[in-house]
Amino acid sequence: MKRSAKFTLKFATEKKKSLIVDLFDLYSKNLQMTIDLLWENKVPLHKWISSKDVTWMGDLGGQYKQLIYTHASQIVRSTKNRKGKKSKPEIKNFSITIDQKMVSSEKSNNSFDKWIRLRLPFLKPGRRAERIEILIPLKNHKQSLKFEDWNLCKSILLTRSYVTLIFEKETPETKLEGKVLGIDQGYKNLITTSEGKFIGKGFDSVYSKISRKKQGSKAFKRTLIERNNEIGYLINKELNLSDTKELVVEDLKSVKSGINGRFRKSFNNRLQRWVYPKVIGKLERLSQENRVLFTKVDPSYTSQSCSLCGFRHKDNRKNEKFLCLSCGYTNHSDLNAAINISHMGVYSPHAKENRMEV
Ligand SMILES: [Zn+2]
Repeated sequence: MKRSAKFTLKFATEKKKSLIVDLFDLYSKNLQMTIDLLWENKVPLHKWISSKDVTWMGDLGGQYKQLIYTHASQIVRSTKNRKGKKSKPEIKNFSITIDQKMVSSEKSNNSFDKWIRLRLPFLKPGRRAERIEILIPLKNHKQSLKFEDWNLCKSILLTRSYVTLIFEKETPETKLEGKVLGIDQGYKNLITTSEGKFIGKGFDSVYSKISRKKQGSKAFKRTLIERNNEIGYLINKELNLSDTKELVVEDLKSVKSGINGRFRKSFNNRLQRWVYPKVIGKLERLSQENRVLFTKVDPSYTSQSCSLCGFRHKDNRKNEKFLCLSCGYTNHSDLNAAINISHMGVYSPHAKENRMEV
């Protein structure tokens, strides 16, 4: 499993910081130039070309030429593959994925915790072929400390003010003992577990807060970050997986396509749809860390079916209230859905019954 942690670049000296600014200026100038050339078909659009064929970037060195070409080609190809009206991509904010040829990271024994050794495209003064290298000091923080005994991946992600390091460790075997927990994602409640725990009650207020901001504005972006932090915080704090062996969640693919009446009206809310992958990603990471089997299932009908007798009817559900028109079972509709989802897991007794019937 892989995890990432961000580190600030603020502990670098002013001179190093200004070299990073220069790197970004040079990179963005060449990135935009390459995008322009690719867009106008003035140079061939491949996934990769030899740095010898990159003749329009001056003396950047082969590695940066290739990095920039690949980056530009990715942007242009994904824009061209998009549906609808396409206009030439203009670069504003971006990060640079620097691979192991240009960077190495190492642990440190002095007052800093790590160093990044970064080769820049700038030539050393008075030398013909040598490039400037800088060492950037990094300090650990609460999140990065979790990965102290993990392997450090070689490539890094650089922005103007921080660097993201990737840590890797073998995913541990999943537990054999424990319970099966189903998770329903809702509108008013962020998630509901099949054990009746409601996590993120009143999360719809977050959606209204976001919708009051102008899309793309600074306040809008800030609210999205707050929202993501809130999701992580709530799930970390409230979802205890210590005695769970399997977590069953709705498969995003089925949710997205909205098949078979699973979509609720409120679900057409774009803001909520953005939250789906965030929550699924968080739950998957948490499952891996707790040795819990993570199962995604097609959530069709889980909100209309009775979790006690299986009777399915769209009138079983009225907003937050579930009342089975066949057996009279009643419950909170999110909880009823979460129980149905838990029944679809690999380890659930229902799954075994179903297999026996077949
Ligand atoms: Zn029923």
